[in-house]
Amino acid sequence: MDKSWIKRLNAADIGEPILIAPHTWWVGWNLTNDPFQCHTYLIEQGDNSILLDPGGQLTWNATLEKIEKVIPFAKIRYFICHHQDPDITSSLPAIDRLVTRSDAAILSHWRANALLKHYAITTPLACVEKMGWHLDLGQGRVLKFVFTPYLHFPGAFCTFDTLSGILFSSDLFGGFTDDWKLVAEDENHFENIRPFHEHYMPHKDVLIHGLSKLEPLPMTMIAPQHGSIIPGELIPFMFNQLKAMDCGLFLMTRANSDFMRLSRLNRMLKDVIQSMILHRDFKEVANAILTATESLIPSNHIEFYAKLDDDLVVHLAPESGFRGTTAQLSPEYRAFIGLSRDHWKGNDIGPYMVIDLPETPPSPGATRGLLLPLFSLQTHLVNALVIFRLNYDIEIDDELAMVLSRISEPLGVAIERETIFQNMEKERDSIYQRSIRDPLTNLYTRVYMRDAADRLCRVQDRDPRSKLVVAMLDIDHFKSVNDTYGHGCGDQVLQQVAKVLLEGVRSADVPVRLGGEEFVTFLVGVDLNIAKDIMDRVRLRVSQLTFNGVMSDRQVTISAGLASRHVGEPLDEVINRADIALYQAKSSGRNRVILTQDPESQSPLP
Ligand code: GH3
Ligand code: MG
Ligand code: MG
Repeated sequence: MDKSWIKRLNAADIGEPILIAPHTWWVGWNLTNDPFQCHTYLIEQGDNSILLDPGGQLTWNATLEKIEKVIPFAKIRYFICHHQDPDITSSLPAIDRLVTRSDAAILSHWRANALLKHYAITTPLACVEKMGWHLDLGQGRVLKFVFTPYLHFPGAFCTFDTLSGILFSSDLFGGFTDDWKLVAEDENHFENIRPFHEHYMPHKDVLIHGLSKLEPLPMTMIAPQHGSIIPGELIPFMFNQLKAMDCGLFLMTRANSDFMRLSRLNRMLKDVIQSMILHRDFKEVANAILTATESLIPSNHIEFYAKLDDDLVVHLAPESGFRGTTAQLSPEYRAFIGLSRDHWKGNDIGPYMVIDLPETPPSPGATRGLLLPLFSLQTHLVNALVIFRLNYDIEIDDELAMVLSRISEPLGVAIERETIFQNMEKERDSIYQRSIRDPLTNLYTRVYMRDAADRLCRVQDRDPRSKLVVAMLDIDHFKSVNDTYGHGCGDQVLQQVAKVLLEGVRSADVPVRLGGEEFVTFLVGVDLNIAKDIMDRVRLRVSQLTFNGVMSDRQVTISAGLASRHVGEPLDEVINRADIALYQAKSSGRNRVILTQDPESQSPLP
């Protein structure tokens, strides 16, 4: 964008009228140490000249002096007041004394005129709505009045000059300016506009209504009453930013008039909510919350304690990637969980607490924490706590406390959502555990065997040095146990044998109940001879089992057949070889372990 004209206008002598467009002058005044710069504009149109937002008593003399440098005051026929505020209208009595022509008029909305009449002026007050919302000045210039009610005054309106394309927008697009800049130079100017609108515009809906009426106008420039003029190139950007912004900040504040801080608080609240919508993964939510709050809460460590369905309190912290781990919560804070809002002895705005924390490795030195209780939406009881580890102590004023109580709501939703996920995961886990474990023996099922064995084979195929032995096991003469003592005793034997098997193998091994009294065990990382030792120990222990009652003098034995899988061997083949060995064990007398030689191996059978 060509910035030369902007630079020229910003460098212009503000003691003089400044031409901002053909026949259009800035005739305002710069009040020192006042972020509310009040702009008055003059449209030079012969005997139909117009003064927009004349100004207050503080600025009127300077404005009049500037007008006179452009045109004689008597050339001004219309004085447009976009609303009734003193910085626009308190010059009216002085103007009234100067007006000599009988066709002069003060133009405003009836809501403003109802107040302006209290200046007891004789110049007629005309209502723009009664003029059909426009004024034809001749020579191709029509002023269109656009009603933007409640921004921030019931009868607020803006003026659009159809000839120049300038929108005289009054408070809309106004800004706070610390440095004098008649024209905004870049997008950064929105940061002056934002707090101004957050404050004066009562509600986002009201603002968007006003903006939507103005947006279709073919604007070349926006000339607001405060802040800086918006050049055409920046108009779409400013519209979009304003539409995306929240208003009504005064609803939040109690005593604080630091609007920049209020603006930051407001943005923090919005960003926290946004972060929850954008991120599904709780780790990302937590990090986004830290980023959103960093300008007000000096912390780079956030952790949560959350109650799951079964009263278990889990700890979600960056150290564990925000996966719920067993909580180590001091009893003092544990007691907060389950409290209602009424019980909370915080301050009167929102519950929070600054607490001492043990010094921990992730954030050494940060031993103060800001704790917020998070309430369940259903029960309204504390179901989680969030702790921001503070890098340094902060003062929590009313506004920050208010925002803390407001962010605790979305945080509560985020943690509730996360605990639902974690409960579901636990549920899924236990369903899975149930489907993979045989209920009688607690050994793995056939269902699980397929998955697990395939996985073990893939691992072995990747690393040929790794070993995998398949052991087929069968209880000897089990049918006679059932037949002699009944099924109940048979089940008891199955359980006891399974227990011996489970205890005899390592956790990486996979013992499976294939069905009936037949078992298979996958032994990981051992060769055939060691596997034989393991199985012989199991066999021996089974033979030493003692039973109660009718079975007290019954010995139970098992037979086993072992085969070592070679790399690439299909699972069924190695199982089949182990089965053949088991058959040999049975046929050669039972209560023994027989090895099958790997077909690729040359070593003889033992
Ligand atoms: P062998 O030494 O040759 O293996 O003889 P066996 O009697 O153990 O072999 P067989 O396969 O003929 O008998 C297995 C029996 O196991 C048949 C069936 O009634 C019994 N059985 C299968 N599942 C269960 C179970 O869940 N509980 C009980 N109590 N018995 C079962
Ligand atoms: Mg059997
Ligand atoms: Mg059998």
